[in-house]
Amino acid sequence: MLTDYHLHLRPDGHEASTAEYHSQANVERYRAAAEERGIAELGVSEHIYRFTQALEIWRHPFWEQFAHDDLDEYCGFIRERTDLRLGIEADFVPGAEDRLASLLEARDLDYVVGSVHFLRDGAVDMDDYSVWDSGRSVEEIWRRYFQTIGESAASGLFDVLAHPDLVKYWGPERPLPEGDLRHYYELAMDGIAQSGIAVEVSTAGLRKRAGEMYPAPAFLSMCLEAGAPVALSSDAHRPEDVGADYDQALEMLERLGVQELCLFEGRTRRLAPLGAGAGTTDPAGAREGSAPGSER
Ligand SMILES: [Zn+2]
Ligand SMILES: [Zn+2]
Repeated sequence: MLTDYHLHLRPDGHEASTAEYHSQANVERYRAAAEERGIAELGVSEHIYRFTQALEIWRHPFWEQFAHDDLDEYCGFIRERTDLRLGIEADFVPGAEDRLASLLEARDLDYVVGSVHFLRDGAVDMDDYSVWDSGRSVEEIWRRYFQTIGESAASGLFDVLAHPDLVKYWGPERPLPEGDLRHYYELAMDGIAQSGIAVEVSTAGLRKRAGEMYPAPAFLSMCLEAGAPVALSSDAHRPEDVGADYDQALEMLERLGVQELCLFEGRTRRLAPLGAGAGTTDPAGAREGSAPGSER
């Protein structure tokens, strides 16, 4: 079984309307790309900030610019007109946990991908509102980033921890902290271990300035030691990127001894044997996840 759960049906810009991209023809393009790459299980996880309802949670100026669409129309389209799993990529906004929980619980989602793109108001991966212009040291940014990742896991709001070391997004264009990066990764591990959240392996980092998989192998090893299962995704924003560079992801997973991937339905998690070609969404080997975070 191979999965691609962290998918967007459109690019991130304003011009990408739901009228154009939330169509069966576009979904067919994603399905065809997935089939070519032996990926049977597909889900879509549009950004929460593209929906007007997100402004109940946070009113960051970036969100205010983009919150045009209706969340329930999106859910209805995916459920009624496609065979994709229904997910959402939701930012962790400290202090807004209850509001986010209400928004998510009111929808019939298969899974929630939890992201940290902002440290308070400062964006980790955008030039606008950049945290890198905040005057904070690189060490402080990395420390706060991984603390926030740990808090997002511990919140219990999410099924999957997205692109877990996104702080490296800029690659050589931003300095790295001195020393062993595992000192920073460690700050997230209690939250990951206690929550039982699945950790995303995302090939998107290979397409960004980072030029590396999210997360780094050292981060993933620590998560595996903490008992976290793996969810595999490309974070594609166009059909061509569905399952992109999965050969490299599978090589890393094999090297680290990962043999199972998460499957999600109705916010319940199962584990299925990892591997290309086993093209069924209900493999005989699948079993219920036993981690505490899978029961919510
Ligand atoms: Zn993201
Ligand atoms: Zn994404």
